[in-house]
Amino acid sequence: MLNSYSGFRLLFRLGVMVLLLLLLGWIVDNILLTIFLGSAVLLFWHYRQLSRLSHWLWKDKKLTPPQGRGSWEGIFNGIYRLQGKNRRRVGQLASLLGRFRQGAEALPDAAVVLDSEHNILWCNKLAQLILGFVWPQDNGQRIDNLIRHPDFSAYLRKHNFSEPLEIPSPVSERRLLEIRLMPYGDRQLLLMARDITRIHQLESMRKDFVANVSHELKTPLTVLQGYLEIMQTMEDDNSPNQKPLNMMQQQTSRMQSMVEQLLALSRIEAGANVDLSHTVNMDIMFNQLKVEAQALAAEQYELVFFCEPGLNIHGQEQQVRSACSNLISNAIRYTSPGGKISITWKSVASGAKFSVTDTGVGIAPQHINRLTERFYRVDNARSSKTGGSGLGLAIVKHALSHHHSELTVLSELGKGSTFSFIVPTHLIDRKN
Ligand code: ADP
Repeated sequence: MLNSYSGFRLLFRLGVMVLLLLLLGWIVDNILLTIFLGSAVLLFWHYRQLSRLSHWLWKDKKLTPPQGRGSWEGIFNGIYRLQGKNRRRVGQLASLLGRFRQGAEALPDAAVVLDSEHNILWCNKLAQLILGFVWPQDNGQRIDNLIRHPDFSAYLRKHNFSEPLEIPSPVSERRLLEIRLMPYGDRQLLLMARDITRIHQLESMRKDFVANVSHELKTPLTVLQGYLEIMQTMEDDNSPNQKPLNMMQQQTSRMQSMVEQLLALSRIEAGANVDLSHTVNMDIMFNQLKVEAQALAAEQYELVFFCEPGLNIHGQEQQVRSACSNLISNAIRYTSPGGKISITWKSVASGAKFSVTDTGVGIAPQHINRLTERFYRVDNARSSKTGGSGLGLAIVKHALSHHHSELTVLSELGKGSTFSFIVPTHLIDRKN
């Protein structure tokens, strides 16, 4: 069967019409006039259909097209079919978008979509609640006009979003927000903000608790230590009490050193905003570290020192010293007598590097990433023997992070280890 709108059918109709006109022209004996009149009527009819189509497309509110005849019926119905298809597609897209929005509204965090100029394109309800946005009035506003914290503007300008940013909420200074930015698509950004007030409170409660308990333990331990010393001197050297007294003394000094380290860690954690305008004279500090290392090594190790002169650090002396001396004392404690320990401080392309290399017990690869966790020890028995508390490297990590630096550990089991860190160029003060 021929399609009702096929070109052949239209041609057939035109042919019939021309034949009829020719017949009529032959009957009235004026073929030219009848063809002319017939064409004029046909042209007028087509023009009328065109104007109906234009009226329907631009003015008529009805969805159904006007009733078309002949060749126009196919055109009207075709356009109607296309419109129907488009409507269905738009409907599907709208429901998909709706589902996405519902999903974004169900997020436990505030979500804001930004364009490449940092203008707000969309935000969820939680963003309105914790960031104080008003929707839809704030649509198209630059986000740094609404979150006016200087750290946030600097964070946006920096374009490095690997670390989250913590700022007070624009709604209330007492609420702390953690902001993350994720680039996606065509230079767009997704901003996620989380209320971390409670986590922050708990964290500071934990820090205060540790600091207070450590502080409170200091006095009773000193008293205990004092009495133990007196009791030891009162007993005969051969007395059976000497051994337990010795053990008690060892354990109290272990507890004392642990308390000291906990206090040091609390102090370093509390002093997150290190004043980086001070200069640490590394020539002097290196010499002091050398003296301490020699005392600890008690001539049982080969010690090699190298310090590039005039290479100073902008930072806090106590924290830098704590980081370096913890690495040195670990190298000595985890190396058997007779081993070699090299300590160097020298400039490198990205700043200056402090490194401690030993020929000690080494560390198996699975432990390396966890060494800086509090109380983490590779071998409890060995650490107890060496008097370790598992806090030394946690102290190092915190002290270094305040100086924009990180600890790097290279180690091979049974062969030795290298613990190093690089202080970045902007914190180095060269004196020559
Ligand atoms: P600790 O007080 O137990 O030494 P640290 O935090 O200083 O605690 O070190 C954590 C663990 O890392 C130690 O228990 C030890 O197993 C390992 N470690 C640290 N330094 C060295 C080193 N130079 N060589 C081998 N192992 C090390």
